[in-house]
Amino acid sequence: MSSLRLGDTLEDYCLNCRRLLDHAVAALVNDQPVKVVCRTCGREHDFKHGQLPVRKQKLAKVSAFDQVLAGILATQPAAPETGSEPKPKPRKRKP
Ligand SMILES: [Zn+2]
Repeated sequence: MSSLRLGDTLEDYCLNCRRLLDHAVAALVNDQPVKVVCRTCGREHDFKHGQLPVRKQKLAKVSAFDQVLAGILATQPAAPETGSEPKPKPRKRKP
């Protein structure tokens, strides 16, 4: 097995470019890359072993947003356009 050296090219996930791209090895520990530099944007970050980062919080937010969006899209066509709805109450004046 050939060991990596500084400057060798690896494929890893770049947080800046948000895709798998070629990276140069910037730091090695026990022949394992720990820091890489994106060859596209030049950003240095921890080596992620080519794995896409999964953030549960972000996923939860996205799914919640999708649910709200789906709700809006689902209710919009069903909203009656005729005058069958009761008139909205007049707003209270601010004191
Ligand atoms: Zn990049």
